[in-house]
Amino acid sequence: MYIYSDRSRGPEGPHEKRVITLRPSQRPSIGRSIDSSAQRFRFRLWRPGRAHPDSIGSLGDVAALCSPGPTAQEEKLARTINAAIALARKATSSLPAKAQQDLLTALLDIASNFFPTGFGVMDKDGKVVLKSVRPWIEASYQRGQTPNIPFRYEVQLFLSRQKSDFAAGDHRYQGGRNASQIRLYSNRLAGRSVNELGSVLIHEMVHMLASLRRSLEAREGQAVADAFPTTKAAVLLNSNKFVDHRKVLERHFATLLNHLEREHGIIVRYTIQDRTPASLIAELAVEEVIAYVFDASVSVAMAGVEAATTAKATGKPAIKLARGFEPRQFVKDYLRYHWISDPRVEAAFKTQGVIQVLKSMEPDLLRLVGAVESNLTP
Ligand SMILES: [Zn+2]
Repeated sequence: MYIYSDRSRGPEGPHEKRVITLRPSQRPSIGRSIDSSAQRFRFRLWRPGRAHPDSIGSLGDVAALCSPGPTAQEEKLARTINAAIALARKATSSLPAKAQQDLLTALLDIASNFFPTGFGVMDKDGKVVLKSVRPWIEASYQRGQTPNIPFRYEVQLFLSRQKSDFAAGDHRYQGGRNASQIRLYSNRLAGRSVNELGSVLIHEMVHMLASLRRSLEAREGQAVADAFPTTKAAVLLNSNKFVDHRKVLERHFATLLNHLEREHGIIVRYTIQDRTPASLIAELAVEEVIAYVFDASVSVAMAGVEAATTAKATGKPAIKLARGFEPRQFVKDYLRYHWISDPRVEAAFKTQGVIQVLKSMEPDLLRLVGAVESNLTP
């Protein structure tokens, strides 16, 4: 449920407040259970006012103040992304499940803080030349009589002038700050359709929400995470459900990484505590599939709205677009976007050895996609 109150003064200046009030999750909690006397969770989205109340401290901020602002092209891109948000709003009701509608609504509520204005700009070295507004999500629940405001998660979004070879956008979790940063690469987005831009934005926002969910779960336990942003939508963000798929994929990725290292000298080293690169890559591959499947589903719904509008205008029957999933391409893109920057990987992907490994993971990846798709429409 949404409660919308006009303008209110938050602790850091004028904000618009949107309150989502939720019931506790009906699902049993595993791991840390919360106080059984907790009556309800509340998630609030705080929208910064036009003038961000943060004090000016670092050199980056001074640079931001002196900057001439977005270019005409960036402003045009921002307007088109804003049109994509409007299109996605229209498409919400045609999504096939309430869970998807809830997820999209929450996601667009956050995204609309950045467009047509509110986004930041990074230069070609990734330096901030225009600050992003920073909406934040606050989670609180009541423990008995004591109201508690324990959790705050901040989101920033930048149009970046950095050169990006593959990715149209990316999401970075800023662990120490409980925050997310999304970058959309202008050079990869110029000339794309409204539908495509919407799809890119939604994809990165799903990563953001999944990351928020992980933080919430680590901090407040699964029961709270299972209520965000609504109990129905939380199911879509929960990658814990696909742990068996993840284990299978981990073996495939281990084979692939070994092969790349042995045959091509391409080394992927990411270690967090005692995790192997393959386990990390497999875990985030599950999230990648979730983001992919959801943005594809919204893209189809948006195409439906577009087609209906065109049909109305022209009297011709509506044509819907659908997007196919190509497992091998997916793995290649995923690895290039997120894990392997070595330029030799392009050539390696074309060799018979790598093609064989990719072929052997195909059925298992398709099984994961199938599972995520059925999870999307419960
Ligand atoms: Zn992604």
